[in-house]
Amino acid sequence: MFRLKEFENDKQICMNFEDDRDRFQGAVVPPIFQNTLFTYPSLGDLVEAVKEEKNHYVYGRGTNPTVEIVEKKLAALERGEDCKTFGSGMAAISAAIINSVQSGDHILCVSNLYYSTMELIKYLGKFNISHSVVYSTNTEEILKAIQSNTKVIFLESPTDLKFRLIDLEEISKLAKEKGIRTIIDNTWATPLFQKPLMFGIDIVVHSAAKYLGGHSDVLGGALITSKKIMKSLFNKEYLLMGAAMPPSEGALLLRGLRTLPLRMLSHQENALKVAEYLESHSKIAKVHFPGLESHPDYGLGKKQLAGYSGLMSMELTEANYRQVEKVINKMKAFKIGVSFGSFESLVMSPNLSNNAGQLLEENISPGIIRLAVGLEDVNVLLRDLEQSLSD
Ligand SMILES: *Cc1c(COP(=O)(O)O)cnc(C)c1O
Repeated sequence: MFRLKEFENDKQICMNFEDDRDRFQGAVVPPIFQNTLFTYPSLGDLVEAVKEEKNHYVYGRGTNPTVEIVEKKLAALERGEDCKTFGSGMAAISAAIINSVQSGDHILCVSNLYYSTMELIKYLGKFNISHSVVYSTNTEEILKAIQSNTKVIFLESPTDLKFRLIDLEEISKLAKEKGIRTIIDNTWATPLFQKPLMFGIDIVVHSAAKYLGGHSDVLGGALITSKKIMKSLFNKEYLLMGAAMPPSEGALLLRGLRTLPLRMLSHQENALKVAEYLESHSKIAKVHFPGLESHPDYGLGKKQLAGYSGLMSMELTEANYRQVEKVINKMKAFKIGVSFGSFESLVMSPNLSNNAGQLLEENISPGIIRLAVGLEDVNVLLRDLEQSLSD
């Protein structure tokens, strides 16, 4: 596990503006390059630039100076060689997956994935790309689920909703031996609390709308990987699918990153208190949060996580939609809404009243409620939970 030294480094990366001072006349915040193209002194210069658009400013769908600063920071935070940002997390995820498969290939999904990622993978069936899901985070079980045509293992660790951890070192070693590419969605942990590339994972993707942006005002995504993978990905999935991050969003994301270390420490502090409170509550059957010592993967977390974010779930002892609805509707400090990772605390449930059967099939209790613990005073949040869980 990477410790204080790494965190100290990361803080500097998040805040540093020294690299750009000379380019931007000492501006403490870099300007927003709100232009779609760059002109060149001669045709020859333009021709040269177009040959390697990744490293030259040619057209806004490729590389933009404001956005490029964020990309350099994210690559450095993940300890990766290269990064490209996208218009959304799903754009980054689509690019990563499509770059890694072709017709006839199989994608192995590990345990519960983010809903839209799973829908995308199902949709790829249209192109004769098959998939299967292994509802386990155990390396042995994952190994057994690999098929002869498996080309990608897609994972989230912690997993969606139950926050189980996958041993990243083991899984990437095993995948490498079989020539399978590993892609991880690292949105939950952020690069501050988990650096999957250091464990041998091939591609890291993020939704920047969550902790990275942190203020519920940026939509974006990021993909961090090796120079080799990025080379093909930039020229194909990035330029051709055309989901570039706009410069204005890049500037907001850059602002979000400056407070990322501060925010993550506060999310962690609040979340640990909320999780401990809920764990001792008589109306709660279970709390899913890898920061609790009772969590089945607490030990593994100590090895591969450097901290815990604010997203968790709890299971009501009375596990039905009526009760889930009643508890959620009583909440005041926790607002009802999708997403997470921002200053505000949020609550929702995947129990949509008519899908209890499907939830059970996916190993999820119908009494499950997801909480995104924000940056409010924790006592306000604890009191809100207390009153909403009371009769
Ligand atoms: C939000 C989210 C996504 C999708 O990202 P968008 O920016 O909404 O496209 C993917 N994975 C996880 C874990 C997310 O939370």
